Amino acid sequence: MLKEQDRIFTNLNGKESPLLCYAKKREAWKRTKEFLDLDPAQIIDEVKKSGLRGRGGAGFLTGLKWSFMPKHSAKSYLVVNADESEPGTCKDRDILRYEPHKLLEGILLASKAINASTAYIYIRGEFYNEYLVLNNALDEAYREGLIGENACKSGYNLDIFIHRGAGAYICGEETAQLESIEGKKGFPRIKPPFPANIGLFGCPTTINNVETIAMIPDILNRGSKWFSSLGKPNNTGTKIFCISGHVNNPCNVEEELGIPLRELIERYAGGVCGGWDNLLAVIPGGASSPLIPKSICDTVEMDFDSLKIVYSALGTAAIIVMDKSTDIIAAIERLSYFFMHESCGQCTPCREGTGWIWRIMKRMVTGNIRSDEIDKLLDLTTQIEGHTICALGDAAAWPIQGLIRHFRHVIEDRI
Ligand code: SF4
Repeated sequence: MLKEQDRIFTNLNGKESPLLCYAKKREAWKRTKEFLDLDPAQIIDEVKKSGLRGRGGAGFLTGLKWSFMPKHSAKSYLVVNADESEPGTCKDRDILRYEPHKLLEGILLASKAINASTAYIYIRGEFYNEYLVLNNALDEAYREGLIGENACKSGYNLDIFIHRGAGAYICGEETAQLESIEGKKGFPRIKPPFPANIGLFGCPTTINNVETIAMIPDILNRGSKWFSSLGKPNNTGTKIFCISGHVNNPCNVEEELGIPLRELIERYAGGVCGGWDNLLAVIPGGASSPLIPKSICDTVEMDFDSLKIVYSALGTAAIIVMDKSTDIIAAIERLSYFFMHESCGQCTPCREGTGWIWRIMKRMVTGNIRSDEIDKLLDLTTQIEGHTICALGDAAAWPIQGLIRHFRHVIEDRI
């Protein structure tokens, strides 16, 4: 269990004010100038040593990602992905509205590390109140000289702009996000080139998730050794878990990576409605991660590697709990509708395949399919997976694969 003194997001529940004077009491902006005086390579090295993996879903090593940025470039950007839209996920929202200064300080430090002079925060359009809080925090930071010209009196200049999205899930994909900031339709780009070479407005760009960036001040303040002592090897540090669905107390909670799923649900979310034995399945990492049945939930640990072993993913760590009252086919059918609706339509396997999947799933809910269509559906998902421009195709395929892997007998019974 995470010790109180190791908590990074001490105002995650919003009990205190997000304003600067209160954030400073929570140690925000304390040693920022000291870190800005470091060589960028030293900051990157410390983040690398911490083992921090991106908290937006992919779990890529943050320090390594930063090291891909060219050392000398006339213009580079940092883009912070606050377009939190993955169903079940609401962790960045609490950082934006309760801990905005942790994020802004992290942006300043990360920008220095990658030699960016401008940063964008791409915030989900529906997060209007969060946008107001963040905007106010940014005003405070400018007024106090923490951001802008000669930030924190360090001689380093950084401007931060907040860009509001307009409701498209696909703009959470990093290159679609760049297109959207540039004023175009949110179409994911074909990679390579990767954003570190050609990103926003054709310049080198790093895109990081809100939670990832908001962890940077604490990693530098307390040291990479402290951070890497939490969690497990290759899965270090803490993570905000969003627990929703059939639990007695849905909540967001920060815990160490590697905590057993059962402990997380029972300790913080008041347990599964009707008790642990009433559990049917869990989607452990947001809508796109394959579900896991109770037999796996009994022992699985919540980290990148453990969930990969059981053919699922940590993703955004949005835990959707489903008890035995759930129509599991209907639940996954609803997700397939979501992915069909959010496909940008650029590539054929995703544009056509997501609709095809949903139409089969819709019939499956009432048992109106032939037995051989189960394997046909599975085959269809493998032809989408890995054959598209962005990961939305994979995201549409994985929930179906999880359903067939673990609940084929339920589908057969329904037929
Ligand atoms: Fe668009 Fe889907 Fe292709 Fe991604 S995979 S680019 S969402 S059509």
